[in-house]
Amino acid sequence: MKNNRQKEPADFTPDVLGELPMTIAKYALWGGVAVLALSLLAIIFLMNVAAGDAAKAAQVATNMGMFEKGIILGPILIALGSAWLFWEEEMMVGINVIIALLVFFAPVWLPLILQNAQPETSNPGVTKGYEILAVGGQIYVGFAIAILVGDIVTRVRKRMVYGTKAALLKYGTNIKEESDRKNVFMGKCWQLPFCRKFVREKCPIYHAQRTCWRELVGCMCEEAVISAAMSDKPVSKEALLNGSAIPRNNKLTDGQKRQRCHNCVIYNEHQKHKYKLAMPLSMIFYGIVFLLFRESLGGWVSGMMTGASKKVNQITVGTVKEIGAGEYFNQFLTVAIILVAFAYTVKLIEHAIFKLKI
Ligand code: SF4
Ligand code: SF4
Repeated sequence: MKNNRQKEPADFTPDVLGELPMTIAKYALWGGVAVLALSLLAIIFLMNVAAGDAAKAAQVATNMGMFEKGIILGPILIALGSAWLFWEEEMMVGINVIIALLVFFAPVWLPLILQNAQPETSNPGVTKGYEILAVGGQIYVGFAIAILVGDIVTRVRKRMVYGTKAALLKYGTNIKEESDRKNVFMGKCWQLPFCRKFVREKCPIYHAQRTCWRELVGCMCEEAVISAAMSDKPVSKEALLNGSAIPRNNKLTDGQKRQRCHNCVIYNEHQKHKYKLAMPLSMIFYGIVFLLFRESLGGWVSGMMTGASKKVNQITVGTVKEIGAGEYFNQFLTVAIILVAFAYTVKLIEHAIFKLKI
């Protein structure tokens, strides 16, 4: 049927604010990729020239300065553009971290390509190149970690608010939170917001002060609980108090009943509380790990770097010289490792609580 609706003036108005940031982000991302790639290529080329002709090294070192801005600006544009375009995409966080680490570890892999441009040299063109790459790498790793932390914060915040949204949809949108219930942290089923007043008043689980997911029977899964709530049949106070009025279902196994709980809005609210508890605990855990083991972790990182450098030296039969990582570098890498470990712990906790429903 033809739609005769007159167009409103608003229909002709483009969503300028909605499109503009997207367009800027696209240009920033691809512009950043181009700037970083060209600057990297130019620096590597100039380092090779300086290493091959010592007479040109000083001039090359001066010329290299113009690409320093590109090595700094490129990663910033990539990080900001990709974060805007692909926020909450796991791939985006991973790709940024990988490219940042590649730039950061240029002194490790670059000597394999430029065998005459070792990090430990007095050639000013070569040292200037490594200096520029180190600055760019550190800035990029900083931005990549900021994106990683922002991603964790967003995920945790969403999980804290919505928990398992699928469970709500399964039971329909008419499952509403009851206003008369307080949402008691890690509370029993009748202390959570989905306990309906008219059922609760006659619910044996409530009167026995038990928890439905422990009894494997409740108002969302057993008809007997609802029919008891609807009927006027009196139940003895003693039976309610000692729990013998709680209906039992012998047709299903305990495993099947647990499965029902996994898809239930009440149980999933409880899972949300577990998540809210697990998050600060894991933060405290990693905080303590950092405070107590900062020194030994730094030593381990330093040992790992020296070991890797030795290996490269052995494989290349001494062509690539061993490099020693500085104190600042080790500290920086230690923090980065702890943050990445924390990010993956968050994913593990999410999987355990919202997928496996532990
Ligand atoms: S089983 Fe349902 S009605 Fe009974 S106390 Fe628990 S949440 Fe409330
Ligand atoms: S399915 Fe829901 S209502 Fe039934 S026992 Fe499990 S959590 Fe309670």
